[in-house]
Amino acid sequence: METLTKITSQISVQPISEMLNHVGHYGEFGGSFIPPVLEQPLQKLSEFFEKESKTESFKREFIHYLKTFVGRPTPLYYATRLSNYVGARIYLKREDLTHTGSHKINNTIGQILLAKRMGATEVIAETGAGQHGVATATAAALFGIPCKVFMGAIDMERQALNVHRMKMLGAEVIATEMGSKTLKDAVDAALGYYIEHPDSYYLLGSHVGPHPYPRMVGYFQSVIGNEARQQIISAEGILPSSIFACIGGGSNAIGLFSGFLSDSNTKIYGAEGGGELLPGKTAATLTFGKPSVFQGTNSYCLVDSEGVAVNSYSIAAGLDYPGISPQHAYLMQTARAQYIPVSDNEAIGAFRLLSKLEGIVPAIESSHAVALAAKILKNSGELAIINLSGRGDKDVGRVAL
Ligand SMILES: *Cc1c(COP(=O)(O)O)cnc(C)c1O
Repeated sequence: METLTKITSQISVQPISEMLNHVGHYGEFGGSFIPPVLEQPLQKLSEFFEKESKTESFKREFIHYLKTFVGRPTPLYYATRLSNYVGARIYLKREDLTHTGSHKINNTIGQILLAKRMGATEVIAETGAGQHGVATATAAALFGIPCKVFMGAIDMERQALNVHRMKMLGAEVIATEMGSKTLKDAVDAALGYYIEHPDSYYLLGSHVGPHPYPRMVGYFQSVIGNEARQQIISAEGILPSSIFACIGGGSNAIGLFSGFLSDSNTKIYGAEGGGELLPGKTAATLTFGKPSVFQGTNSYCLVDSEGVAVNSYSIAAGLDYPGISPQHAYLMQTARAQYIPVSDNEAIGAFRLLSKLEGIVPAIESSHAVALAAKILKNSGELAIINLSGRGDKDVGRVAL
């Protein structure tokens, strides 16, 4: 798919089409493992996306809302005091400055435009911490489309503020009482509803699930990497030696990485939610998981000895998911990217460090990327970019000294 650079110089999207065939395979990973009733709606969605996203009118509308509603392009900020502290030259890609405070809005705006153009009468979504739910409710309010958000009952208690935000935005929040009452159960509930109501639009929130979701989400999030690549070239005249992002499902990471995949001298690092770095107490799917089919796609998953998905654990709700994007599985297998777990304690340390050194309170998710970068870049003098996927107001209470 072509790039959008012709329309504006900075805001542009470019998917990673070379690595992906039309049924959504990334090497042996990806694809579509779904009940027969979803085959036709997802096929229709795939065809609609391929056709619509190439039209000038769609690109124009998407870029218009990214600019005027989301606040793009986001700055690429040179972090002087962090750089001095680490002994490297570190830029932060400021997704924390977007409307609603994280990269998730890039994807929800893209998909709500598809939903609107498909004539969907209702949008449904799943959410864990509530961040994707808020981003979806925001996008749905923007276009006046009714919105239902499925959320685990335990998550609703833990994330009460985001539940209030979604309701304020006009969404209906539906408690999931199944299983562990957290994100993976909310995904099951949303899929169940979608199976019964295939005319609704399922707005998936990360780089996971069956084709065409990883392809679509990767496309909408590629705006991050495209901007960052142009910004670092105009600031420094060269490409970074390394780039860093945290990995939950993998959407902010693929957004940044996609801008640099063909730059073979740029090393790529994903920071997994390591939790306590023990089996059963981690969300580091690529490090501790196994190749598995889970929630519609073939990728890695945290599983028990029978191969059944287990609950993940991370201090960061946005990283607390036992599955992972099929493209990240492929990038690990082909050694184009390295994935390293970061513990809860390391992330808390980085949260405090960035707040004090730069006056930027990062999301606890993004703090994983900061912690990994600080470790790998120590006294290297290297030029690097860290994706600051979101802001940390939501986490201050938890991490307070
Ligand atoms: C949801 C979230 C993540 C993790 O999701 P990805 O799809 O892996 O990007 C990371 N950071 C923030 C701030 C989030 O809200």
